[in-house]
Amino acid sequence: MQEKSVCMLGRENIFHFQSIFDDMLDMVVMFEPETLRLVYFNHAASDCLGYSRDELLQMTICQLCPQLPEFEFRHRINSLDTRTRSLERFETVKRRKDGTDFSADVLIHLVKKTDGNDIFVGIARAQDELQPLLESVSADEKKPAPASDAAYAEEIGILGGIERLQAEEAEQLVALMVLHSSESMLITDSLGIILGVNRAFTEVTGYTSEEAVGKNSSILRSGRHNRNFYRDMWEDINASGHWHGEIWNRRKNGELYLEWITINTLYNKDKSIRSYVGLFSDITKKKTSDELVWQQANFDMLTGLPNRYMFQSRLELEIKKARQDRSSMALLFVDIDNFKEVNDSLGHNIGDLLLVEAAQRIQICVTEPDAVARISGDEFVVIIPALEDIGSVERVVQHIMDRMGEAFQLGEEKLFVSVSIGVSFYPEDAANAESLLKNSGQAMHAAKAQGRKSYCYFTSSMQNTAKMKRKMVNELREALDKEQFRVVYQPIVTLNNGALHKAEALIRWQHPIRGLISPAEFIPVAEEIGIITAIGDWVFREAAKQAARWRALYYAKFQISINVSPVQFRYYGANFEAWLQYLDELKLSGQSIVVEITEGLLLDVHASVTSQLLAFRDAGIRVSLDDFGTGYSALSYLKKFDIDYLKIDQTFVRDLAHDANDMALCEAIIVMAHKLGLKVIAEGIETEEQRRLLTDVGCDYGQGYLFSTPIPAEEFELRLKMTVV
Ligand code: C2E
Ligand code: MG
Ligand code: MG
Repeated sequence: MQEKSVCMLGRENIFHFQSIFDDMLDMVVMFEPETLRLVYFNHAASDCLGYSRDELLQMTICQLCPQLPEFEFRHRINSLDTRTRSLERFETVKRRKDGTDFSADVLIHLVKKTDGNDIFVGIARAQDELQPLLESVSADEKKPAPASDAAYAEEIGILGGIERLQAEEAEQLVALMVLHSSESMLITDSLGIILGVNRAFTEVTGYTSEEAVGKNSSILRSGRHNRNFYRDMWEDINASGHWHGEIWNRRKNGELYLEWITINTLYNKDKSIRSYVGLFSDITKKKTSDELVWQQANFDMLTGLPNRYMFQSRLELEIKKARQDRSSMALLFVDIDNFKEVNDSLGHNIGDLLLVEAAQRIQICVTEPDAVARISGDEFVVIIPALEDIGSVERVVQHIMDRMGEAFQLGEEKLFVSVSIGVSFYPEDAANAESLLKNSGQAMHAAKAQGRKSYCYFTSSMQNTAKMKRKMVNELREALDKEQFRVVYQPIVTLNNGALHKAEALIRWQHPIRGLISPAEFIPVAEEIGIITAIGDWVFREAAKQAARWRALYYAKFQISINVSPVQFRYYGANFEAWLQYLDELKLSGQSIVVEITEGLLLDVHASVTSQLLAFRDAGIRVSLDDFGTGYSALSYLKKFDIDYLKIDQTFVRDLAHDANDMALCEAIIVMAHKLGLKVIAEGIETEEQRRLLTDVGCDYGQGYLFSTPIPAEEFELRLKMTVV
């Protein structure tokens, strides 16, 4: 059937055949039997082989197949099947101009020219060539259309190849190509009724030629393109006789596939349309993998939002637009408060669900949902372009804060979170995308510092704060070597008798210019840059030395608490072994040291945390839970981790006398802790009344300015001398 339909094509369409050859992804070459010199080749051949037209015309077919010696090649073509005058398909290695080889599937056929001479036609396809060829096809789009068929023939380099073929030979050749081409081909009449298809067509679409011929080509329609798409396509075909592009079609089994198709029109002598020839390849797999790569490179897989990379280019684009329109835009930096704690306490799955839901909520709050991106962890950004008034920013900010403040139902868990938002404006706050983002990030940090659940506009003073922080980072790195740190000790007093058997070691930074810097200021920075390990090691050694001295001189069971940052546990657990060695060196019992940790650490799922806490316990080191009541206060963890002391945070102690709730809470914590076998230390006792109330409800120890502020070791020792009983 195919051959019949193809043979209907007459010689007058010979140039159209050439244009079809040139649209083919298969390589087509012709060469002379005697000299084996190339006389014709299509675009695919020259593109794939990398030679220019002139170079190819100087070459023999054997030069393209370096692994097939000439005598063997000649032997092969001499043994062509006399009936079909074709060689069965065979595989050979071809070499490109750049020296790279590729393996190709080749079919060679002998045809007669009008001058009585024979000519060989080879059709070949490299397996890995689809994409480069597709690219070359789209590059061809830019070439000006040839003025006439003859000019086109000249342009594509036909040198006595096809035009001297006898009519029936030409038809035979086209039939052969259609049949053997690894590209799918279909020919329709002017009304779209299918006249012929080839094997590759059947492989892609599932329709045999018997099923397809006689049907309208619309049997392949997928329904994915609208009327306008087909209308535009046909307008192009009617105007130029030619079209190529991507079309989604449907296989017989209902599956959709994407094809790259070239459509050519064949005309009758009177210029009326005779038929259309469509040449296509199934590029679904290639396209989906390209799209996946693109998707992965530009979108956040979890939330589906644009990622940092995509956001960056979007922001640059918006800035460009704002510059041109002389308009303003705002950038919102949204960060979920305490996200890490959610992740650590409820697990990463719940953390992920929270992020997905948060992304959706933020998107709902903006008019352009695509202007929202997730740039890392729990950090989202929102671009508000073409600002009319600041009120519109306020509205979006408030909307986001409200929506995010609503309960999150994540699986079994019901959760409440808040966000901190930083806002910066273009062009007021920054001239480019990078600074705009940096400034909104700084504003977000300022909002966090205000106590979270708030928003903050960028101000230039924040830039100064950031500069100061950078300075601090550099100075902190040197502070240990320059011996600028001190340890001060705050008494921890037994409440019912005033005995002084314990102290908390607290670090101070004696800055050469700024004077005394509070740990609240520099510890977070030290944690951020990782230097906290070295600082923590140093504090431990100082405290251990001091404990050894005070145990020897004043009280054999004296204990010093040290604060250990979660960062020390998470990344540098191995250092703790050195601590135990140091205790050995000092011949000091582990019981002289109490490690103060915060609740967040217990919720940490890292295995190293648990094993370190166990190692401490094995060495006799006690564990104290600092700032109890400010975090998640997950009581079940207290027993699980063998905590010895619980420190009630000073925020509860502060209002003890005036707030009945705080009093009840303290009492409950004490009762509960005692039930679990823990001793309780109340922090921040400043008044006699607080001391009395806490003693009355059975609190074991107290710490606070009422007894003493943190003081240097020498001063502490004097007190120790006087008060130890
Ligand atoms: P923290 O461990 O909860 O220490 C208690 C803080 O409360 C200390 O602040 C102490 O000076 C203060 N304080 C004690 N009594 C009272 C009182 O009656 N009223 C008030 N208002 N405050 C009182 P400081 O020394 O500024 O330390 C702040 C935080 O810095 C500490 O809180 C601790 O978390 C951290 N920190 C201190 N030294 C170190 C250290 O060596 N390593 C680590 N990782 N963190 C440390
Ligand atoms: Mg502490
Ligand atoms: Mg504390």
